[in-house]
Amino acid sequence: MSKENTPANTPAPAANFIKNIVEADLAAGKHAQRRWAGQPGTAADHAAAPLDPAKIRTRFPPEPNGYLHFGHAKSILLNFGLAEQYGGRCHLRFDDTNPEKEEQEYVDSIIDAVHWLGCSWEKSGETNLYYASNYFDWMVAFAEHLIATGHAYVDSQNAEEMRANRGTLTQPGKDSPYRNRSADESMDLFKRMQAGEFADGAHILRAKIDMAAPNINLRDPAIYRIRHATHHNTGDKWCVYPMYTFAHPIEDALENITHSICTLEFEDQRPFYDWLLERLAEGNLLQRPLPQQIEFSRLNLTYVVLSKRKLIQLVDEKHVDGWDDPRMPTLVGARRRGYTPEGFRLFAERIGVSKHDSLIDYIVFEDCFREVLNDSAERRVAVLDPLKLVITNYPEGQTEEAFAPNHPLKPELGKRSMPFSRELWIEAEDFMEAPSKGFHRLYPGNMARLKYGYIVKCTGCEKDASGKVTTVLCEYLPETKSGTPGADSIKVKGNLHWVSVAHGYTAEVRLYDRLFAVPAPGARREGDAPELERDYLDDINPNSKQLITAHLEPSLKDAKAEDCFQFERHGYFVADSKDSKAGAPVFNRTVTLRDSWSAKPGK
Ligand code: ATP
Ligand code: MG
Repeated sequence: MSKENTPANTPAPAANFIKNIVEADLAAGKHAQRRWAGQPGTAADHAAAPLDPAKIRTRFPPEPNGYLHFGHAKSILLNFGLAEQYGGRCHLRFDDTNPEKEEQEYVDSIIDAVHWLGCSWEKSGETNLYYASNYFDWMVAFAEHLIATGHAYVDSQNAEEMRANRGTLTQPGKDSPYRNRSADESMDLFKRMQAGEFADGAHILRAKIDMAAPNINLRDPAIYRIRHATHHNTGDKWCVYPMYTFAHPIEDALENITHSICTLEFEDQRPFYDWLLERLAEGNLLQRPLPQQIEFSRLNLTYVVLSKRKLIQLVDEKHVDGWDDPRMPTLVGARRRGYTPEGFRLFAERIGVSKHDSLIDYIVFEDCFREVLNDSAERRVAVLDPLKLVITNYPEGQTEEAFAPNHPLKPELGKRSMPFSRELWIEAEDFMEAPSKGFHRLYPGNMARLKYGYIVKCTGCEKDASGKVTTVLCEYLPETKSGTPGADSIKVKGNLHWVSVAHGYTAEVRLYDRLFAVPAPGARREGDAPELERDYLDDINPNSKQLITAHLEPSLKDAKAEDCFQFERHGYFVADSKDSKAGAPVFNRTVTLRDSWSAKPGK
């Protein structure tokens, strides 16, 4: 087996236990008899409609209260990917049942991000884009059904009493003195809650399950509360709003979701999810089979924080330049950083889906982008730390073309021409006046190739008053141009890239690196004193952004926003979509060619 084909180099897609569940359900025909009204609806709505053309339905249900991050990408690709693979549909549903927190800005940015990842809620004539707030009429009707059937009651304890009577993990809760109110009395109160007769918190509607249940989530959970607030979609129509744990299962069922996939912290909510939907299906309000909630472990990455609270703090306190800062783990940031949708897909496939809490090494993440970009990005030449090279025997004012392949593995992408002249920029590290052992590039007396151009022999250097080298001097060997018969007449070990001083495009380049300097920002470290508390902000990498002025080959002046390139020997770079001007792009470093962190001390 050649080295390229060993399993270590091409890891098989990781396991995804949810696929097994879906395949078993399909084999058993579990969902085959469901009907679909063409839009969300109750059992009666769907019963009158044809069979659901979708074999499965999944959904991605963000709350529009922030920007999406890398973890959401995992969830998006999982849900849309399953639908794609198994002849299903995936809905984009805005879970906008909380009146206080949602904003249009987030709705727009979520729509953009899902599209950008290559996912679509439009399929076979269906447009499955939904807003949970459009279901409020149903939710209230369902709540009233629970009251009428003795499965819910209005509690008039205050918040403190409710908390005290809830019990603990080891102690059962106590019944509310209002628990045995008649259904009529609860119904009357719930109607008056809706009519706006009471202040926030005066009453609350609770499911009637079991105050002694070992699972605290089953101890008569709150399902509807009073909130005098204006909602972005429904305005002032409502002053009662459903609790998330009540709303979410209903949203899934109305939309015919078959597999409701969420993160592990909702595992303890599953019994209530099932209890609630079962009560509503018993009352013929919801179609069977009911959606099944399946939990998987959320994405955690070393060197990255994904908590919404922390991301907000990073932005608000200006530790970064906004939500779309290329160092932020948001999808708007990723896009400016040059992380591509293809890279996210490869990553999602590689890490798989499981129930084990997992912490993924940042290198695994970065490698996915290296791999994808190595294949897709055209090569260009950039000098990031310039030093002038003068070819003393090359005629002044003369220019000739040197041809460089756009992609070494894809000759079909052709070559481009770079102007070659007497004065060139080379990387400062490519010259040493007194070479160290093993240094094969330019030093007085040594020969090296100017890639795609000629072999040159270093003849010396010029320095300023402080002794700093300002110019390297050399002579070229006219018979040795790359692509001519004489190119191989002399063998040299060094191969340098260069940009013509008179022709290069001088531009700002941002060298981005990890935002945090340690794998677990804010976590205690070995040897920490017992009383020491760490703050994740102290772990910010002070060198995560470096601005430089670089000399780029002339063709880069024409780069369009979001064009990705490999700058030879340096890494992958993208033309920034925000700060580039027409004909004057600036570039962001996406990722270096190789990981330089594993070798760093302190890791
Ligand atoms: P919060 O609940 O604090 O508002 P959230 O990140 O859970 O934040 P949601 O809008 O509720 O935001 O998330 C939408 C979907 O994305 C949910 O189904 C959630 O499970 C999933 N999700 C969120 N974070 C991650 C993560 N780190 N890994 C995988 N999936 C995630
Ligand atoms: Mg959430």
